Amino acid sequence: MTLRGSNNDPIVRAKDRLLAHPEPIQTPQINLEHASRAVKEHCGVIGIYSLKKEPVAERIVKGLAALQHRGQESWGLATPNEPIIKGLGLIGVGAAANARKILRLESNRGIGHIRYSTRGRTNLENAHPLDIHGEFAIAQNGTIANTEDLEPLVKGEFPIIDSNSDTKLAGYRLLQHYRREHDWTRAFTRLAKEISGSYSFVIVTHEGEVLAARDESGFRPLCLGWDEETQTNIVASESCALTALHAELVRDVQPGELVRFNEDGVTVTKFAESPHHHCAFEYTYFAHPSSKIDDHYVYEARRQLGRVLARKYPFKADVVIPVPDSARPAALGYSEESGIPMEEGLMKDRYRRKGSLRSFIEPTDESREEIVREIITIRPVVDGKNVIVVDDSIVRGTSSKNIVRALRDAGAKKVYMVVTFPPIRHPCYMGIDFPTHDELLATRVDGDTMSIPELNAKVANEIGVDGLGYNDIEGLSKGIGLNQNEMCFACVTGEYLGLKKNPVLRTREEMKA
Ligand code: SF4
Repeated sequence: MTLRGSNNDPIVRAKDRLLAHPEPIQTPQINLEHASRAVKEHCGVIGIYSLKKEPVAERIVKGLAALQHRGQESWGLATPNEPIIKGLGLIGVGAAANARKILRLESNRGIGHIRYSTRGRTNLENAHPLDIHGEFAIAQNGTIANTEDLEPLVKGEFPIIDSNSDTKLAGYRLLQHYRREHDWTRAFTRLAKEISGSYSFVIVTHEGEVLAARDESGFRPLCLGWDEETQTNIVASESCALTALHAELVRDVQPGELVRFNEDGVTVTKFAESPHHHCAFEYTYFAHPSSKIDDHYVYEARRQLGRVLARKYPFKADVVIPVPDSARPAALGYSEESGIPMEEGLMKDRYRRKGSLRSFIEPTDESREEIVREIITIRPVVDGKNVIVVDDSIVRGTSSKNIVRALRDAGAKKVYMVVTFPPIRHPCYMGIDFPTHDELLATRVDGDTMSIPELNAKVANEIGVDGLGYNDIEGLSKGIGLNQNEMCFACVTGEYLGLKKNPVLRTREEMKA
């Protein structure tokens, strides 16, 4: 097979490394003591089927590398009738360490996953894909919020399963339905009626089909791609993975759709219907800026959000600076609308251990702070100036406080902050890790009572800025370009409209037990 890509390609590097190290290399372990104390399931998934019968393992790895921003705790890939290959940490490092095994896989179909968990501990056992009774391997992006309902339905038939894996529970329940129905669409229809939560599943069956299903509310993204040159069908969490594979985006998998890849090509069926509840946080923070989700470019949405904030909060300042990396397009939008120049006043130190990671999805306060410490201020940009800092969200407030302190240390006179996401006051049970009320700064400060202007003043005082401007739901929907009634705002309003039942509020320890 021809290898595409540069020396940054994990498989190319893996091959180089194999030549230098003929012995197998152990996958590096992340610090489990830290990671298991508090965690999060927001992830990236990919499924590939080559009609030209070319091996797909390399392309799964490349696709996962492009989805790495969605999870950095573990990775895995599965092809039919082969042991699942998994590791902890980043896919690039893991692929290098497991290159021999990965390059040996010859199947023309398979699935892959990178993980950032909301449920279950950060260990290899919980890393996806997960084997379901030898019948199929499954991987999920999302969170099943009502595992307590699924557990009794499954445990009678499969008493040995670890019920803390919501994906495993859903997989076993799906298997039960498939055994009765002998039809995947009907099996998913039955499963969808029982699940309250979010899921973009990918499955590879041991008969050799690749399946992908997106929940009927469409909380998490999922898209279909096609590589003409290699006659390959691809399904992935985000279109940035298709770009990395030189494939074209065909369309989004619509909420409630089941996609099947086999030797006859692609079949799409509808298994459930519901009003849509696309996650607004994907657009402001989580997704890659180059991705197009549900027909809206993430980069453009962020830029427009910056423009919205400039109109809403016209602070007088000398310079607009983004909190790297996700707020960059919003800072550009604020600058364009306000006429205040944008400069890079904060930089990530990519060469330190955690400099390139993302602070919000780190498992512990300590590791989040460690990343923020590795954000460096550029003194000439801020010294003696009034500065507007643009950020995507304030969750716990830890990072914001540290950034403001660093800017003042670098000589900033006045510091204002605008935030593209409205105040987060409630936990998310649909795949993003802010699971408890008492961790959320907006809730700590006011419970759930203040208007945004009142909250702006209170939070400004907490994090030490001279003025703060949170976005609101109207501004968020306007910036993204989706109607309010097709978006989820549960973490802002506390109304879990996209779930079939109100979630049982769990502590972080219960989520991670
Ligand atoms: S609650 Fe918030 S983070 Fe969770 S799916 Fe809804 S918008 Fe996204």
